[in-house]
Amino acid sequence: MAADYISKRFAALGLTGPVKGSDNPYIQHFQMDRVSTDAATSVKIGSKTFVFNKDFYALVDGTFAAPTEVQPVFIGYGIGTDAYSDVANAGDLKGKDLVMLMGEPKGKDGKPLLPANGPDGKPRPAYGEPTIQSLMARSGALRPLMARSTFYVVPTDAAFAQIPANFKAVLGREQLAFADTPPRRGQNLFIVSPEMGAALLGTKASGLAKYEKAVAQAGKPVASPFKPATATVQAVQKKEPFTTENVLGYLEGTDKKDELLVMSAHYDHLGVKDGKVFNGADDDGSGTVSVLAFADAFVQAKKDGHGPRRSILFLANTGEEEGLLGSQYYTDHPVFPLESTVADVNIDMVGRVDPEHEGKGDYVYVVGADKLSSELNAVSEATNQKYNPIALDYKYNDPNDPEHIYYRSDHYNFAKHKIPVAFYTSGLHADYHKETDEVDKIAFPAMARRDQLIFHTAWELANRDNRPVVDSNKP
Ligand SMILES: [Zn+2]
Repeated sequence: MAADYISKRFAALGLTGPVKGSDNPYIQHFQMDRVSTDAATSVKIGSKTFVFNKDFYALVDGTFAAPTEVQPVFIGYGIGTDAYSDVANAGDLKGKDLVMLMGEPKGKDGKPLLPANGPDGKPRPAYGEPTIQSLMARSGALRPLMARSTFYVVPTDAAFAQIPANFKAVLGREQLAFADTPPRRGQNLFIVSPEMGAALLGTKASGLAKYEKAVAQAGKPVASPFKPATATVQAVQKKEPFTTENVLGYLEGTDKKDELLVMSAHYDHLGVKDGKVFNGADDDGSGTVSVLAFADAFVQAKKDGHGPRRSILFLANTGEEEGLLGSQYYTDHPVFPLESTVADVNIDMVGRVDPEHEGKGDYVYVVGADKLSSELNAVSEATNQKYNPIALDYKYNDPNDPEHIYYRSDHYNFAKHKIPVAFYTSGLHADYHKETDEVDKIAFPAMARRDQLIFHTAWELANRDNRPVVDSNKP
């Protein structure tokens, strides 16, 4: 509905639809798959078949689509730290299937063998907890081993019962994949019950307890007596194809019409979750209506005899929230050559006043403008000075900023192709990614000031003699 609305607005404004071969020249359709793990996924050990989502949970790619024999290698607790390492002398495990205990090693006194703090002085992760954090803590040491799959044996039935809730954010979540590219090789991880773990290791619960006792006696990793069983794994992926679309409106330039300025925003948000509609008024309704307003203004200027010298593509992206998908598709299948695309001006969330700026006057965060082109940043600053300036905040432009905003909106896919970008946002707030991001909370006067600055900058980029030079490569 949103794509249809935007395409009709682009048409009504008098923009051209530039997509050849589409049923609607304003719409760039593309195919994707919703990929999820099918209920038929199973692991057979001996005569017993262990059941997906009951005896184990899994996050898999296509590796085990056909029934596959797996001969797991036991690597203790899967911990790789200076103080305690199961992987330091593990040998070549590339392409192997690893099985490990998801508890944590304790000493004779029952206290953890790992020191309370890591080498950085910060508290180390709780390896013994059945959480995403404990799995992530292991994966840093495991990833370089390049194993084919990893089986995590949860130590107790009580801890295993917590897995669905603790891993809700990753397990069972469908992934979106481009239909025209091979599936991403991801991790193949299995979180298994104590009973299934013992079966995998060719032992019983008492055997696992014995190993833990041996570690406690030695105070360090010890060789295990386990003879892991051969298991047959079949992890079936379910694929549901669907079509989604970017919306494109084109305004032809004059003497430099073969060069293109892109003005982009994403029109998707988070959809409907648990019956709640996530409208995303700020994220990114604010950017989408800004792009419509810029189109309106540039069309009016052209009617008045002041059309832009360069052509402008107004681009409403889909799937930004699912991983910048629409802008990735556009830049991989550009309608206009990327070589003649001079810059992307991207707008994502310009409708609010964040806590840092409340009561402090008009502002906008500018991100990325100096990364590839010192000239683009200079244009941005000079334009702001010329027309009723607002505060330009560069907090999120710092490569060390923990939010890493530079990588988190559609402009990044243009930057990847060495196209200079300027990204504008008013920052994060309490309603970010919540169903409460509603239009009555938009600060329209503040948003209008930002849009005026962005419009003036785009005007300059569309009309100045030379395109912004690519002369730097900042992180
Ligand atoms: Zn956004």
